[in-house]
Amino acid sequence: MQSFDFHTHDLSSTGIWNLPSDETPNSVGYFSAGLHPWFLEENWKEQLQKVKTLSKQDNCLAIGECGFDRLRGPSISIQQAAFEAQAETAEELDIPIILHCVKAHDLVLAYLKNHKNPPSIIWHGWNLKPHLASQLLEFPVYFSFGKALLNANSNASNWLKACPSDRIFFETDDASLGIDSIYEAASLILVRPVENLRKQVVENWNQISSRKIK
Ligand SMILES: [Zn+2]
Repeated sequence: MQSFDFHTHDLSSTGIWNLPSDETPNSVGYFSAGLHPWFLEENWKEQLQKVKTLSKQDNCLAIGECGFDRLRGPSISIQQAAFEAQAETAEELDIPIILHCVKAHDLVLAYLKNHKNPPSIIWHGWNLKPHLASQLLEFPVYFSFGKALLNANSNASNWLKACPSDRIFFETDDASLGIDSIYEAASLILVRPVENLRKQVVENWNQISSRKIK
């Protein structure tokens, strides 16, 4: 079994390729489609139509990355509206959201508290303090761990140790390293064989999505 990369900008990694807005997906590889908060424009509702069309393809496994960023992008009210619209699409299709979130944990929590049936949300590149993660466990929130696991003292490494194992995923994002190195780091932290982690995360995915990883 290969190491599955749950969020990558590198088309050559085996996993879910984050589709750039100016690209079209091929018909076989898995991808995610969404409106990144950095690039939201006035006409985001038109951009959303394209995402909706793409998301009808069976190999579109998730909506995203999308979410909130207090350091970059348009006003928070636009980010919220675009996120909620995309979350609705994910919920309709019964597929997860890949969440980008920078300095906006409170906005995610507020969204979850105000929505009865949120889609599963995979917080990508998790590297915040473990107590902030604990606050999310009562909701369908999952944690995707990336290069921060290479530092044994990072928040990511500390949370991975405590996180329920059915909430974990692994990713390279835009880091120029192979996905195997992330699984190997996780294997050392959790004292579990890599092969066992590979199976775990694919099972995790197949539990929460109508579109399965084969
Ligand atoms: Zn990314």
